[in-house]
Amino acid sequence: MDYDWLGHRLYPNSIRYLGFKCPGCGAGVYTSKRPLPIGQGQLAIVASCFCVTHFTPAVDGRKFEPVTLVRWVGFVEQVTAMAEEETPNRASTA
Ligand SMILES: [Zn+2]
Repeated sequence: MDYDWLGHRLYPNSIRYLGFKCPGCGAGVYTSKRPLPIGQGQLAIVASCFCVTHFTPAVDGRKFEPVTLVRWVGFVEQVTAMAEEETPNRASTA
């Protein structure tokens, strides 16, 4: 388990502690100080703990929406829900 910056290697002085720990994995949640390329010419602020990597795409003329503990709880729930959906359901023969 480690931080995932979408394949980028970030140094400690390139990331910022958001001030709370992830309720899912207990790791401190960090965010990139600058937008990172996420492919297709897009840039995004990336935030990561050990179980979630979240990015906020940059939109012209709009501020990045700040990542808060409340929002992070939502991201963890989304990731958990997706993992559960990937579990194949047993086919009913009844
Ligand atoms: Zn986590």
